Amino acid sequence: MLAGSIAVPRGPKGQTHTMPSAMNRRVLLRRRPVGTPRPDDFEVSESPIPSPHPGEILCRTLYLSIDPYMRGRMNEGRSYARSVELGQVMVGGTVSQVVESRHPGFASGDFVVGYDGWQAYAVSTGAGVRKLDPVQAPISTALGVLGMPGMTAYVGLLDIGQPAPGETVLVSAAAGAVGSVVGQIARIKGCHVVGIAGSKAKCDYAVSELGFDHCVDYRAQELLPALQAACPGGVDIYFDNVGGAALAAVLTLINRNARIPLCGLIAQYNAIELPSGPNLLPVLVSRALIKGFIVSDHGDRLAAFLGDCTRWLREGRLKYREDVVDGLEAAPAALIGVLEGRNFGKMLVSVLPDPTRPS
Ligand code: NDP
Repeated sequence: MLAGSIAVPRGPKGQTHTMPSAMNRRVLLRRRPVGTPRPDDFEVSESPIPSPHPGEILCRTLYLSIDPYMRGRMNEGRSYARSVELGQVMVGGTVSQVVESRHPGFASGDFVVGYDGWQAYAVSTGAGVRKLDPVQAPISTALGVLGMPGMTAYVGLLDIGQPAPGETVLVSAAAGAVGSVVGQIARIKGCHVVGIAGSKAKCDYAVSELGFDHCVDYRAQELLPALQAACPGGVDIYFDNVGGAALAAVLTLINRNARIPLCGLIAQYNAIELPSGPNLLPVLVSRALIKGFIVSDHGDRLAAFLGDCTRWLREGRLKYREDVVDGLEAAPAALIGVLEGRNFGKMLVSVLPDPTRPS
């Protein structure tokens, strides 16, 4: 039961501070968008902070992950996961701190990554919740480079793409959460790496910070000739995050036995009508493989992913960038921005102060 104030262990050293009691703030889905979501498709609501029952934990959200898949959850109808019901809290990955534990596996003060959604406090059974060690890496990375987007890059590139040294790997949304990790792992595997991104700043970052060989700004350059110049030997692996016109152009450049991990189709997430399909003849002629995948099917790769990517991060071979906005109320605009390419790096919402970071 929460009344008056809550003592919250503070970071790795375990000092405590008190927090005034507050209502829980939550962002609910108010209306299903047609096309591009609008801020008033969401509603911020207040309700009492819930209490954990035996076997449960109460967590406060420090970071909320903003991901493109959330657009699909706002639609009615079947996809690979259930839609959010109207009036319900928007779903999403979270990094949190345990405030009260009635679960033997968690203690008050633990940092965890889970799936509490767009709310400041949440009760859970601990299923699917993993503890984080703030000494290993900043806890926010559990939503990005060391989280679901990083693992998507790892599984899609290594298991489906199967890169060999010297091959050309092309990736779209190259400066984003998934794309930036794809390109860097491809570099580690000795590939020629080319990105596609939506601004000069993103392309400069991919080349000078992340070590890509080239990056094509699709908003400033005509895509096909720019890709031909950047990939003179053709494309062996196209890690596709966007679909649409980029996929159509890349298909004309694929080499024999090319692999295309089909990761995302963000170019059509806000579409009201589906675009006409690309010409698939080059797929046939090149004996190429296109394979769609969903990262949540690949839980068996979590330990390998965390082992490799934590090590590469520590060695400075894997870099990341976060785009953090303040306050739960900023979440709707952040999601709308991701669907328009306004984020630069992994999009996060800082919901409550992170006690592991110096203020
Ligand atoms: P990002 O951090 O890459 O952000 C999304 C980026 O997509 C934007 O910054 C923008 O970059 C680009 N973009 C947005 N709108 C468009 C558009 N209309 N046309 C082309 N590009 C656009 O997001 P993530 O790294 O989290 O996700 C990347 C992709 O991976 C998404 O499609 C997502 O759905 C998919 N994904 C799939 C998973 C799976 O299991 N299959 C798991 C996780 C993600 P720019 O400015 O460069 O255009």
